Amino acid sequence: MKNKDHCIFCKIAQGEIPSPRVYEDELVFCIKDIQPQAKHHFLIISKQHISSLEEAFTQEKEKDSKVLLGHIFKVATEIAKKEGLLPHGFRTVINTNEGGGQTVFHLHVHLLGGETLKDRFN
Ligand code: AMP
Ligand code: ZN
Repeated sequence: MKNKDHCIFCKIAQGEIPSPRVYEDELVFCIKDIQPQAKHHFLIISKQHISSLEEAFTQEKEKDSKVLLGHIFKVATEIAKKEGLLPHGFRTVINTNEGGGQTVFHLHVHLLGGETLKDRFN
């Protein structure tokens, strides 16, 4: 759903759908993924509705998006530390558009830990 009026992450951001926050600041919030793909699976979600990484790096959004994405990866690393995923390690994923496996069209980064892709599919 690309329309922000029907966007589930906008509804969570605005508190219309309750979802406990692992972390929150003025730019982003973090929740646990409802369908975890690893032992630990968090989503770091932009508060602003941006439909994808492609949209984030359109000309008019590029400047703000460089700051936002840098911030998201800093927050991901901090959450990984706090949740005990470091120093062992973690994985971050951004699916972009249908062909990249994106299902929620609101910018978010997956933070996964405790299980590698190899562990899961071997
Ligand atoms: P993507 O497929 O990369 O767009 O990721 C969307 C992710 O959002 C999937 O991993 C879903 O399991 C997750 N998801 C969808 N709805 C919710 C929700 N209400 N709370 C937490 N995670 C959700
Ligand atoms: Zn949204």
